[in-house]
Amino acid sequence: MTRQLDATRSDIEKDGERRRLACGCEVQTSRDFLGRVVGTILTRDAECQRGEHAPGRVVIMPGRENARPEDR
Ligand SMILES: [Zn+2]
Repeated sequence: MTRQLDATRSDIEKDGERRRLACGCEVQTSRDFLGRVVGTILTRDAECQRGEHAPGRVVIMPGRENARPEDR
């Protein structure tokens, strides 16, 4: 019996983390089949204006687009 070590495993460090989006919604993060970080909406914030942020829906997490160098 051989166990294959997934080379990309070390890249997945935040998998399954709970995060709160800027809009207030809480998501459970994971990776989709393309390796993107996505969030499954857990709770929708009352202030949220985003129609797609319904519990159970999967959204692409803010990544490179929102993590601009000037924000850090
Ligand atoms: Zn939201």
